[in-house]
Amino acid sequence: MAEAAAMTLSALQKQMRKRFEAAGLPTPRDDARLLLLETLGISLTDLVTRPDEPVDPARLDVVNARMERRLHGEPVHRILGHREFYGLQLGLSAETLEPRPDTEVLVEALVPYLRRIIDEKGACRILDLGTGAGALALALLSLDPRATAVATDVSANALETASANAAALGLGDRFAVLEGSWFAPVEGLFDIIVSNPPYIRTSVIGELAVEVREHDPLLALDGGLDGLDAYRAIAASANDHLAPGGMVGLEIGFDQREDVTALFEEAGLARLSALKDLGGNDRALIFARDAA
Ligand code: GLN
Repeated sequence: MAEAAAMTLSALQKQMRKRFEAAGLPTPRDDARLLLLETLGISLTDLVTRPDEPVDPARLDVVNARMERRLHGEPVHRILGHREFYGLQLGLSAETLEPRPDTEVLVEALVPYLRRIIDEKGACRILDLGTGAGALALALLSLDPRATAVATDVSANALETASANAAALGLGDRFAVLEGSWFAPVEGLFDIIVSNPPYIRTSVIGELAVEVREHDPLLALDGGLDGLDAYRAIAASANDHLAPGGMVGLEIGFDQREDVTALFEEAGLARLSALKDLGGNDRALIFARDAA
């Protein structure tokens, strides 16, 4: 029986891209390349310099299975089970939000504060509320070996993922997790409190992109009727857990700058800055303990 000609790397990449294009996926080229490279464990250089190399039939089955999942709307990083955030490779699980590049804006804005705190105190205690895969806490921890972090989440599964990520990044000895809602399991004072809480209004969850709606955990998205439930909970106790000179950095929805600012000002904090994301939308706020 005649064997079909082996599929080559370049033919497979092209076939994937064409199917993703035909399905109307927004980034067919990037998705095809990433799925192919990661699944075969090869580099972009391998692909470019050896386009005619045949693909091992066993691996081809895995690539095809993953391609079908993508065609059904599952995001590439969910399929791969990990995503890079702030240069760190983070494992994902069913109960962790997929970290987004927009969230890096908050980390970036906190860098000078973290450095100043460490210059002054020789240490920086970080608290990440609703940590998910650990993105915010681990990105901040990676900046300086004198920083330490406590991360909370209501999901034990998310905390397992975050702890595994910390260990894999060599940050495990400076990272502790506590299970519970917002500040409930937390004791003590922190220099930087961060959170990317659920902030989507319940009524518009159904309008989110299929990648988000069906693959990110609802718990990490649903901010209640007006989308502000998590901010109310955080604002209520933030001052009890802020060290002198401490600050709070929050991701927010594109239309929540004024509402969230009002909640934290009522709680006695002062807004230090409002940050826009890569698309020019309001995306994060930083508050300080009001010195007055
Ligand atoms: N940024 C997420 C989105 O794409 C929402 C994340 C959140 O609620 N914290 O909709």
